[in-house]
Amino acid sequence: MVKIDVAIPKTRFDMLTYDAPDTVGVGDLVQVPLRDAEKYGIVIRTYSSRKVKHIKKIHDIIEHQFLPSPLIQLYSWIADYYLAHMGEVLRLAIPQKILRRHEPTLQRAEPLVVREPLIPNPAQAAAIQDIQAALKQRTYGTFLLYGITGSGKTEVYLQCTDNVLARGGRVLVLVPEISMTPLLFDRFKERFSGRVITIHSSLNQTQRRNVWYAIKRGEYDVIIGPRSAVFIPVPGLELVIVDEEHDHSYKEHERAPRYHARDVAVMRARLENIVAVLGSATPQIESYHNAMAGKYRLHTLDQRIDAKALPGIQMIDLRKEKGYLSPRLERSIQEVVERNEQVILFLNRRGFAPHLMCPSCGFVAKCPYCGLPLVYHKPEQKRRASLSCHICKYKREKISICPQCSRTTLLYRGAGTQRIEEIATRIVQRVNPTAAVVRLDRDIARKKGRTETVLSAFQQGEACVLLGTQLVTKGFHFPGVTLVGVVNADLMLHLPDFRSSERTFQLITQVAGRSGRGERPGTVLIQTYHPDQYAIMCSQLQDYPKFYAEEVPVRRELRFPPFSRLILLRIKGTNEDSVWREARSIAAKLRPLSGVQIFGPNRSLYYRVRKYHRVFILLKVARTYRHSRLRFLLSHRAKGCALEIDVDPLETF
Ligand SMILES: [Zn+2]
Ligand SMILES: [Zn+2]
Repeated sequence: MVKIDVAIPKTRFDMLTYDAPDTVGVGDLVQVPLRDAEKYGIVIRTYSSRKVKHIKKIHDIIEHQFLPSPLIQLYSWIADYYLAHMGEVLRLAIPQKILRRHEPTLQRAEPLVVREPLIPNPAQAAAIQDIQAALKQRTYGTFLLYGITGSGKTEVYLQCTDNVLARGGRVLVLVPEISMTPLLFDRFKERFSGRVITIHSSLNQTQRRNVWYAIKRGEYDVIIGPRSAVFIPVPGLELVIVDEEHDHSYKEHERAPRYHARDVAVMRARLENIVAVLGSATPQIESYHNAMAGKYRLHTLDQRIDAKALPGIQMIDLRKEKGYLSPRLERSIQEVVERNEQVILFLNRRGFAPHLMCPSCGFVAKCPYCGLPLVYHKPEQKRRASLSCHICKYKREKISICPQCSRTTLLYRGAGTQRIEEIATRIVQRVNPTAAVVRLDRDIARKKGRTETVLSAFQQGEACVLLGTQLVTKGFHFPGVTLVGVVNADLMLHLPDFRSSERTFQLITQVAGRSGRGERPGTVLIQTYHPDQYAIMCSQLQDYPKFYAEEVPVRRELRFPPFSRLILLRIKGTNEDSVWREARSIAAKLRPLSGVQIFGPNRSLYYRVRKYHRVFILLKVARTYRHSRLRFLLSHRAKGCALEIDVDPLETF
């Protein structure tokens, strides 16, 4: 008999110790008794000598080497680094339902290369050569592929994938969201046909499990999936690609472990001794910094393929030119429609108007829970008009009479995507009465299949304007688009967060990159009150290295990442007093630790969300600090309060 440590999915503890027969090994799937129930667990450690009294025996070994040991190491690293329990990591890592017996599902007889590779330009060729050389050596290496929008990063991914497959290896491709990256997905499908599998968010539990087992058995060679795909066992994995590595959807915000899939992918490459490739037109500052410091190998693609020009970008100073859509933007839209070309308009705010106010007494409709102004949504499809809170999802019927002074004409102030849709429709129909505008935001996207419908309508040319929130900034390729309008570039600038400039630069540069990708040259118009702000200026120049050079001294000065590591502790609960008491007691426990700078407790930007009060403590430590010594926080249990731990948070409010 041996002793083993077993981690059990979905539990809020790390590991339990059991007795087991000698045949058991690390990575085995076992069945164990837990209180009065039977549970599946993964063997994380085995020991021969240690004496532990009164421990139970495992009931069964379900499958030997269910997970390979580098993955066990990876999961342990995640638990350690992101300050989470192993049980929480396994909840993400293995299927909810285990198959006791499983058979191969398909026979594969697809040709390897369906479509011929393109001939790379010199910059692409250099990147391909360098990555292929690293693949050949079979050692760890991370590459950062910084390529301006439209510079052909996908072709680099494809040719490296080709190389791996030719040798019998496998490739994992992470994308922010499958429905948002149809181009990348189609290109892989075209090239590798039936050897590609994609993991959609629309799969149910059973489908998800079947896909997981099929991949683990090696039935597919190219696995494309969102952030959670980084956990899947892939035999013979040689290359991990993280496309649009800057995208915030790689970060888990909701539940522990609050991991970042890019960083997990790099760690996985290191543990499995393979190659990782991160690609972006607007790398996260930390990634570019890693490249500058020599941790990642940098390749720059600074030409658009076929020598297409980057779009010309102009500012519209809203202090001088008024209107939700200024006269200059309006004229440009009309000219584009006259030429039968297409427009993308970007505004990062849903709904019709962000404020409903009374012009007589100044009353503003606010959320009774958060105290933030309610956003007016016009009726559409089957939904009625409403006032809704975008923070806590509180919703009420629209108000037509001021509750303070009974006036009946209330003002809708400001513009969200619904209002811009109306204005844009009027503008384009003056040119062509049948011209249409389509909208893409979360109100649209939450309906199954709607995103695809909207995108394909625009692709087919049925609509001349695509308007939306940050969903329209993703890596789309619409050759007909010759104008991109940024309706309000300042919305992200005002968030109290050290990443607000970076975010602004990324979103504007990404959406600008959608213009002029076809035959005809493109333009971009940016409406802003702050044309001199450096993030906005650098996005006008489309100059990432310049933005990096401006941003880094600010980060260094304030000791923000990449010059430190942040850990955000959020304490929330229904009782305001106990939330604060709790937060102060946590801060007091942290204070004696040397090397930890503590900010707070402070009110979160959204202090009240529904019945919850939210308070945060921000910790700043040196990058060399072993923050796993903060693990004691995990055992912290306070009545009525929840503690959320976010290592490397993307937002700090
Ligand atoms: Zn009033
Ligand atoms: Zn609210």
